[in-house]
Amino acid sequence: MEVYSGEAVVAGNACIGRIFVRKKQKDWAKDMAFQRIERLFELAEQEFRTHPERSNRYVQLARRLSMRYRVRMPEELKRRICKHCHAYLVQGESARTRLRGSRITTTCLSCGKQMRLPY
Ligand SMILES: [Zn+2]
Repeated sequence: MEVYSGEAVVAGNACIGRIFVRKKQKDWAKDMAFQRIERLFELAEQEFRTHPERSNRYVQLARRLSMRYRVRMPEELKRRICKHCHAYLVQGESARTRLRGSRITTTCLSCGKQMRLPY
C-alpha cells in the first residue's frame, strides 16, 4: 500500500503548494522534492519487474515534482526517462542502448523513439 500513501502525499502537497509555497519557496521544499524524486526512482526500480506500469507512474510523479519545485533532475535519472513518452527505461528491458560513434543511442521500446547522448 506504499503506492497509495505515496500518491496521497504528493497530491496533498500539490494542493498546499498552489496556495502557500508557490510565491515563497523555501530551500527545504526543494530538498524535500529532491529526496522524493530519488525515492520515486527507487520505487520505480523495485516495481519494474512485477509492475512496469507502476514504474511509469512513479517517474511521471518524479518529473512533475521536479517541474513544480524547479529541481534540476540529475543526469543519471534523466536518462532513465524516455524524453518522448516519459516511460521508465531499463537497459535491456524497456530500452535498448547502442554506441554509435561518440554517442550513446537509447531506443525506448514503448514508443520506439531514440535519444542520443554524447558519450
Ligand atoms: Zn518512449
